Amino acid sequence: MLSNLLEGDAEIVTAPNGVVALETARAQPFALILLDVVMPEMDGFEVCRRLKMRKTTAEVPVIFVTALSDELDETHGLSLGAVDYITKPYKPAIIKARVANHLLLRKTTQQLQQANQELARLATTDSLTGICNRRQFFDLAATQFEKCKQANASLSALVLDLDRFKTVNDTHGHDVGDTVLIRTVGVCLEVLEDSSILGRLGGEEFAVLLPGVPLSDAARIAEEMRNAVAEMPVTAESNRVQVTVSIGGATLQTSDIGIEDLLKRADSALYRAKKGGRNRVEADELHF
Ligand code: GH3
Ligand code: MG
Ligand code: MG
Repeated sequence: MLSNLLEGDAEIVTAPNGVVALETARAQPFALILLDVVMPEMDGFEVCRRLKMRKTTAEVPVIFVTALSDELDETHGLSLGAVDYITKPYKPAIIKARVANHLLLRKTTQQLQQANQELARLATTDSLTGICNRRQFFDLAATQFEKCKQANASLSALVLDLDRFKTVNDTHGHDVGDTVLIRTVGVCLEVLEDSSILGRLGGEEFAVLLPGVPLSDAARIAEEMRNAVAEMPVTAESNRVQVTVSIGGATLQTSDIGIEDLLKRADSALYRAKKGGRNRVEADELHF
């Protein structure tokens, strides 16, 4: 009867009992579920409870449509997470209106969730290169810092800064400069393992966090990145654009009380690399 009533309003799938209803709901995404309570095999309360337990079906709104008109039953149904509880005999026009309302609400909620996800992505990603931005880098770094400190594990940080990048922009234009930034990220990601975190701190400055990696290995990785950038083929109007990068590295010490301390030391090492002639790696206590 419900199926006939709502035929024109939505595409409808029916199930003859609770067990089939649950299987059907798990097999494909639904916008709304109308559920009886007294059913063969498994009652509607149990179906609803199981729907809410699983991530894939938990968000699907459930409306009970039942002959159980007791206040306790209704409270129980709603406490299981149902959005509405309609008792039989129902008024067809009211059911149609409530279904329409809940379908609209569901659609709006989904749009809002998508918009929120997109906002979260935009707030944490660098739009030019697609890697994490400064804020996200420091958020992730703080978590890694605590983890490694607690586990007494190594944690190394590298700070990368493109050499004389202003000249690249001045000579070849800002677009070529942008391409260089994108390509630099590309070659660095090729060198780095999945466990490392690469972020753009701003402008032509990047940072890498290497959880579980001691300074000597971090320096080797830095050297590989430096090499990869120096050999990176970028051309502008058929001229090769020579790009180099200076890198400073540091490893977590017991005296570090925040991620900033670690980055500060990596930054000092970077300063030495710049001063020492650029296109080189410098690390705390290690010199190349
Ligand atoms: P150094 O070797 O000392 O690091 O010299 P540098 O020229 O790289 O350093 P400086 O800080 O003088 O210049 C950085 C330049 O990076 C200036 C700025 O225009 C450029 N820059 C920053 N962000 C972007 C960007 O998103 N795109 C492009 N194309 N250029 C950028
Ligand atoms: Mg620079
Ligand atoms: Mg810089």
